[in-house]
Amino acid sequence: MSFDKIGLSENLLKTIREIGYTSPTPVQKEAIPEILQGRDILACAQTGTGKTASFALPIVDILQNSRKRNRLPRAIILAPTRELAAQVEENIIQYAANTALSTVLLVGGEIVTTQERKLKKGVDIIIATPGRIIDMFERGRMVLTDVKLIVIDEADRMLDMGFMPDVDRILAMLPRLRQTLLFSATIAPEIERISKQYQINPKQITVTRTSKTADTIDQHAVYVEPGNKRKVMRQILVDHPKDEPTIVFCNRKRDVDIVTKSLTKHGYAAQAFHGDMSQHARNEALDSFKRGESRILVTSDVAARGLDVTGVTLVINFDMPVSNEDYVHRIGRTGRAGKSGKAIIFVAPTEKGKLKRLEQLIKMTIPSLTIEMPKKEEIEIEVPTSIVKERPQKVKTQHRSERSIKEEETTPSIGPIIGFGDFIPAFMLVDPYSKITPAPIV
Ligand code: AMP
Repeated sequence: MSFDKIGLSENLLKTIREIGYTSPTPVQKEAIPEILQGRDILACAQTGTGKTASFALPIVDILQNSRKRNRLPRAIILAPTRELAAQVEENIIQYAANTALSTVLLVGGEIVTTQERKLKKGVDIIIATPGRIIDMFERGRMVLTDVKLIVIDEADRMLDMGFMPDVDRILAMLPRLRQTLLFSATIAPEIERISKQYQINPKQITVTRTSKTADTIDQHAVYVEPGNKRKVMRQILVDHPKDEPTIVFCNRKRDVDIVTKSLTKHGYAAQAFHGDMSQHARNEALDSFKRGESRILVTSDVAARGLDVTGVTLVINFDMPVSNEDYVHRIGRTGRAGKSGKAIIFVAPTEKGKLKRLEQLIKMTIPSLTIEMPKKEEIEIEVPTSIVKERPQKVKTQHRSERSIKEEETTPSIGPIIGFGDFIPAFMLVDPYSKITPAPIV
């Protein structure tokens, strides 16, 4: 099936051709015609299935033709995180390229006055996280009487993050005569409740079985002692094409920082990305990763959903996710839109039972993969005298004790190294236990 028969206007079809989509994905095939006809939707669809376009394309099509009154907002898209909201806005701007529609992103961490100025000027589509929209409404900065469409994207994530009371409040603020589109990776009882309460005869769409991982992802389990994870990860990265983007998931923000520092120390262009960073720092990290300046994004689950970076070919689960559902979302950052990708999960000897439960959820056995580690070789490295005064000229790394190796693994800080000032000698950027030549910083 091509897009031509889906009911979109010629203007939107032109945009789709310009973007390069050739045929609609399953969720788009089912949702677009229904939305265009004014029907509510309850869709069980994961990220990576093309679900954003499945609501954004028809919304843009409907709004480009409908009457504008004082440019009051006519559509609201609610997303659980700032990153997802920003990404949805990016997509909408792309789909609305050949229209006069305008958007505003209302998320925390951004300057309120800029958002208010945009609202005052008049916008057609609001993309927001629930908290900020309520905040704006209560300050009297927003008139919602013209809203015809609302999308609740990643409703299950909203539920996990405790946003449902806010979603209830927002839905209650809107005109009764409107279209409500609910998208969720899983349909929990609370999401059914929202659907029953706020939707009228919704079209139910399920595009993939709950918790199914995409067939385009080549999954592997690597058994590894917790203390060796970083070393094994570096070996995996050596075998992975240098310029292909990789995402590494850790469970704790603290470990995100530790792993990032460790990778940086070993010469990899890695960026940390987690919820404790300022919005500005998060944007910078993401932009640098998207531009290809940093090859590896190390993150916590804040980025597990929704992040859409083109061409991520490898996802490493440095830690097994706390929730098995998160595994599906984490590895969904690769193998997107029909492209292939690789996902690796580190499993500690004590985590075998956990892996079994994960495999039950995704209804497949994750094949194990053995990572060949290079033999420990004695490496003698010349340290230029100009760098190290009153220090031995040769460093025999083979003689380090097991304890010092352990310490290196647990203290990755590259901070000023005692005796070296801020300068990091070349030999410290090399892993002496692998044949790694540090990847060039791209
Ligand atoms: P989503 O599920 O919304 O996160 O979308 C995943 C990716 O699929 C995004 O990069 C979209 O640009 C891309 N995409 C959406 N629809 C199509 C399509 N019909 N053909 C090819 N790629 C698509």
